[in-house]
Amino acid sequence: MNRITSLFNIKYPIVQGGMIWCSGWELASAVSNAGGLGIIGSGSMYPEVLRMHIEKCKAATDKPFAVNLPMLYPDIDKHIETIIELKVPIVFTSAGNPKTWTTKLKEHGIVVVHVVSSVKFALKAEQAGVDAVVAEGFEAGGHNGRDETTTLVLIPMVRDAIRIPLIAAGGIADGRGLMSALTLGADGVQIGSRFVVSEEASAHINFKNEIVKAIEGDTQLTLKELTPVRLLKNDFYNKVEAVYLKGGNAEELKELLGRGRSKKGMFEGDLVEGELEIGQVAGMISKIKPAGEIVAQIMLEYTNLRKDIVRGGKFCI
Ligand code: NDP
Ligand code: NDP
Repeated sequence: MNRITSLFNIKYPIVQGGMIWCSGWELASAVSNAGGLGIIGSGSMYPEVLRMHIEKCKAATDKPFAVNLPMLYPDIDKHIETIIELKVPIVFTSAGNPKTWTTKLKEHGIVVVHVVSSVKFALKAEQAGVDAVVAEGFEAGGHNGRDETTTLVLIPMVRDAIRIPLIAAGGIADGRGLMSALTLGADGVQIGSRFVVSEEASAHINFKNEIVKAIEGDTQLTLKELTPVRLLKNDFYNKVEAVYLKGGNAEELKELLGRGRSKKGMFEGDLVEGELEIGQVAGMISKIKPAGEIVAQIMLEYTNLRKDIVRGGKFCI
């Protein structure tokens, strides 16, 4: 037991990141059933879709699960009402000011966690009264901080700045990553990309297969002028680069991005025109697996590492 497992009432300090188009009820309930914390990514769901996912998740697991709520979402009030009405126990907020919703959610007994990419925002989240913080480094997939602070650097700095429980994210995909994050001062990890390549993820099979094929260097953080995002380098990415090369401005980038690119890529499997958001760990993933197996393998690797370190006698954790 540690501060994260007791805060969420889960077995292992592993949180599955809430990811648009990839993490619906099937993935969230599979991770929760395996002893981690599953999260429904509500940013890509119309209000009635979120309601359906929460209901199905509740039917598929009696374990705690969460909903991720990006504050950029246009119908956020409706999502909040659904979350309260259906008694979702835990909410992860991101991409906005944690002051906005934390008090209301906590008044309804909901545990609130906020996602940040810097020490400044971690402090703001703590002051806003959240129960824990996810600090996400430069390696992470999807939307990301502008400062390019790596997880290795971010976690110790955030640890020194805040007192509440800390979850590390960005670049973590196996037991070695979990061990490293805990060593840096985190109480748990949030893992996204590894779970995209699970059987239960709602991501399109073309996208999952493309991640399996990816090697080191195949992702890039781009579009900082709009919302910084790490994605696979495909034809769409090359078009973005072409706009940069000819000195294009934010308006041109926005026009190129258009609407619904991430749905096209990650949900509909258009590998040419779609936006394929994934982390640097894409290069470490070689197989689509059931989510429960992913959780079990991470914990096995972590436990074996601990034994090796103790046996080696160099230092003990
Ligand atoms: P900006 O960096 O443009 O910030 C806008 C303003 O909103 C900031 O100036 C700040 O107010 C406030 N703010 C934004 N994020 C936070 C936060 N996490 N905690 C506290 N206050 C915040 O905002 P963006 O929306 O472009 O991205 C900001 C953060 O959101 C990044 O850390 C990024 O990783 C994350 N993000 C997450 C997404 C997700 O769905 N997971 C999607 C998009 C972004 P002030 O000036 O008062 O400090
Ligand atoms: P776009 O503006 O390009 O497209 C909006 C997409 O969201 C459409 O595909 C639409 O589905 C779907 N959608 C779901 N609910 C609504 C709604 N109430 N109003 C409008 N559209 C809705 O946005 P993005 O694809 O870049 O991002 C979509 C959302 O996801 C944003 O709200 C953003 O906050 C969030 N987001 C979260 C991230 C995360 O990491 N959690 C990362 C990136 C974005 P349809 O095509 O069926 O109309």
